[in-house]
Amino acid sequence: MKSAVLASLLATATPAFATANLISFDIPTTTSSRTAFLDTSAHVQPSATSDAGAVAAWNVTVNAALFASLPQTVVLNFPDRPSVTLNKDVGKHREPAGFLWTGRGGGCSGIFTSVRNILRGTISCQNAAYGLEPPRHAQATQLIRYDSALVAVDANDTERVASPNAHAANLSKKSAMAAAESVDTSIDILVLYTEGVRAALDPGGGNANSLAYMQHAVDVTQQAMTNSTTAGQPVIAEVALAKAQKVQYPGSGSFSTDLTYLTDDPEPTGLRNYWSADIVMLVAESGGVGQCGRAFEPAFGLPPPGPSFAPFAVAVAKRACSFANFSFQHEFAHVIGANHNPESETNPTPLRPWAYDHWISTPKGVKNRTIMTYPSVCPYGCPEVLHYANAQVYAGDFRTGTPNLRENARAIAEFSSAAAQYRPHLGRIFADRFE
Ligand SMILES: [Zn+2]
Repeated sequence: MKSAVLASLLATATPAFATANLISFDIPTTTSSRTAFLDTSAHVQPSATSDAGAVAAWNVTVNAALFASLPQTVVLNFPDRPSVTLNKDVGKHREPAGFLWTGRGGGCSGIFTSVRNILRGTISCQNAAYGLEPPRHAQATQLIRYDSALVAVDANDTERVASPNAHAANLSKKSAMAAAESVDTSIDILVLYTEGVRAALDPGGGNANSLAYMQHAVDVTQQAMTNSTTAGQPVIAEVALAKAQKVQYPGSGSFSTDLTYLTDDPEPTGLRNYWSADIVMLVAESGGVGQCGRAFEPAFGLPPPGPSFAPFAVAVAKRACSFANFSFQHEFAHVIGANHNPESETNPTPLRPWAYDHWISTPKGVKNRTIMTYPSVCPYGCPEVLHYANAQVYAGDFRTGTPNLRENARAIAEFSSAAAQYRPHLGRIFADRFE
């Protein structure tokens, strides 16, 4: 019976993925048919273009046919730690030729994004974060283990100085014209990237890996929201990719200059208008030395969440930190109103007195931190988990928040509805998301 079910799933799933370029199509009929990696034997050096903080790597053969069948469970058979079984949160096919599968279990969460048959994954566990990087040049698919303590943090610990401008006025006017035929609950994200990013992700030309990367960044952000939601409650925020597009702007090497570009330049503001994006994220190849990103934040030298803040709902994240340190998810949450851990925060006017992140670092006990925490505060180290602080949620045996003190997830839940209405929801045809 079991094999019959599997066979019928494969019969429908296989044709759409028959052109996959990194896949073994061996379909084991034993219990190993639920394992994510069919081969992890080759322990290698991380590739030169891997994300910052990559400390170990394995050439792997991914059981992509398993993911494409959208199973209820997937066994992550790590080469360096005990296996865990993930139970499906989301499993859906996407056009053209792609899917999303996410799941949680054993103190881990996993996100697997396939766009046009290129598969990228992120796995967040208590011990470390892992990335599944698709091939670049002739290298194999690699499973990367990150040491997020090695990765620099962001630079948004100074007060923003920004002034309204002509574009901002136009954008607000456009928002006001939106018909309110239904409540807009999804935060639609325009993800822009530079030629430098494209060249790093697609050294052989084209933009296939780049597009998978940008979709994956949004998928990982959604899973961070799901992970951070109290059981039985509505998810704290819903996000969606409005559009992924390369811009002519080459990047400035300065995150604050990049933010001004995002709010003032006709290129990003025009794209934002066209795609009706609530928040704009720029993935850049370089920025401040030792920094991973920067964001505007409501009520931090700027208006509170709402139409007056909408023109400033932008952030920049460095490619090399985007998954290794979850910098994309870190900067994105700043835009909604999340702050760092209290010890590392300089915002004198947090939206709520408990809008902070959480960490624990004991000599022999739990050592972990949530996405907004600076690792420098942890005396015994604190691997990052894909969570915003929520006292009601555990990642393994790490309680990810403190009641009424460190509850960024509550702040995100409260203010994500304002962010979702920075622009009207367009509901454009799905296949349009990629250039
Ligand atoms: Zn920050």
